[in-house]
Amino acid sequence: MRDVRLGDEIDDYCVKCRRITNHLVVSILNREPAKVRCRTCYHEHDYRREEAPPKKDAKKEALFKEVLSSIDPAAAEQDAAPKKATKARGKKS
Ligand SMILES: [Zn+2]
Repeated sequence: MRDVRLGDEIDDYCVKCRRITNHLVVSILNREPAKVRCRTCYHEHDYRREEAPPKKDAKKEALFKEVLSSIDPAAAEQDAAPKKATKARGKKS
């Protein structure tokens, strides 16, 4: 395997683009790319060996949506209730 050199173009996973893109090697450690820069968005990050980050993001997203959906209905009810009450009061008086 030939040594990687600064400025070499390699594939890696870009968290900003969320896919494998062309990267430029900007830093080398122990003959391996240490930092790379995405050629699409110029985001610089540690070399990931073309691996996408763990599925934490997906889990977080699912959790976030779950929390949102559990909050939204309650918020909607709370919003609607006082309005009805004040309208009713207004009609009575
Ligand atoms: Zn990118």
